[in-house]
Amino acid sequence: MQVGFIGLGIMGRPMALNLAKGGHRLRVWSRRRESMEPLLAAGATGCASAAEVAAGAEVVICMVADAPDVEQVALGPAGVAEGARPGLVFADMSTIAPAAAQGIAVRLAQRGIDMLDAPVSGGEPGAINAALTIMVGGRAEVFERVRPLFECMGRAITHIGGSGAGQVAKACNQIVTGMAIAAVAEALNLARRSGVDGARVREALLGGFAYSKTLEVHGRRMLERDFQPGFKSWMHQKDLRIVMEEAHRLGLALPGAAATAQMFNAMVGSGLGEEDSVAMIKVLEAMSGGGRPHAALPASGGGRRSDGAT
Ligand code: NAP
Repeated sequence: MQVGFIGLGIMGRPMALNLAKGGHRLRVWSRRRESMEPLLAAGATGCASAAEVAAGAEVVICMVADAPDVEQVALGPAGVAEGARPGLVFADMSTIAPAAAQGIAVRLAQRGIDMLDAPVSGGEPGAINAALTIMVGGRAEVFERVRPLFECMGRAITHIGGSGAGQVAKACNQIVTGMAIAAVAEALNLARRSGVDGARVREALLGGFAYSKTLEVHGRRMLERDFQPGFKSWMHQKDLRIVMEEAHRLGLALPGAAATAQMFNAMVGSGLGEEDSVAMIKVLEAMSGGGRPHAALPASGGGRRSDGAT
């Protein structure tokens, strides 16, 4: 297929390279020239705008940051809609709000362009290894047309429902992954402050009901103090903003996600926005007297007084 690809960052670059490996002919554009260099080296055609990408493509895939970016790429000046021939499919794989995805889909439909929302989970390793989980919203027949492209980038590919449904699934995913990162960071902080080896704790927990991919992968990165992104904290903050906006819209209580969203706010406010989400452990450490182990644990009762006074 002739495939356009816009958004060649941590995720988009390896995803596009996997499409090229799958034999598809790529047309790319990026704001910064260096973002598209690896794709040009792999034989992709470089374009001067998103409109030019769309002009020669059957499907345009978008992997940018947030809703305003998707809107700009799709509907802005020199955007996809300006260059598209009728029948083009615009598959947005970025994580944005479900309502924003639906709004963009409606406006593209008025220009004869079908849109799928197809956000992903699996992070940079999943993108590199073509092992992403892809959650798709949009019309079933459009999904079937694009499925061969998704299969070049992912393994678990699920058509969730109509327009916006893929983004709802991704918001659910971010509740689970965000709270799992917070849980692992809290557990490893407790181990460290108790003077116990966090690596041994992680090893033990991996064999029981506390096992999770987050404990395995993110837990190891926390212990190794490897904060290179990965998944930037400001992106995870954005995802929990989307979750909390949905909760507000629906009148829904999401107390755990709300607390986790505050942790991501604190990370960005502490200047950790460009670091990986696993840097949450630094904020927890700072909230509890730094990363040092506790010298002596109180014999009993913590800070409570023994005379019954409070
Ligand atoms: P990233 O490394 O920052 O890459 C984003 C790319 O989008 C950049 O290359 C940037 O282009 C381009 N871009 C942003 N805004 C644009 C605009 N208005 N017009 C044109 N290009 C624009 O981010 P990422 O980690 O790949 O994440 C991309 C999306 O995937 C996000 O929605 C994120 O939430 C989601 N996601 C990320 C992960 C992860 O682990 N990283 C996992 C699952 C989902 P330039 O290079 O030209 O500046």
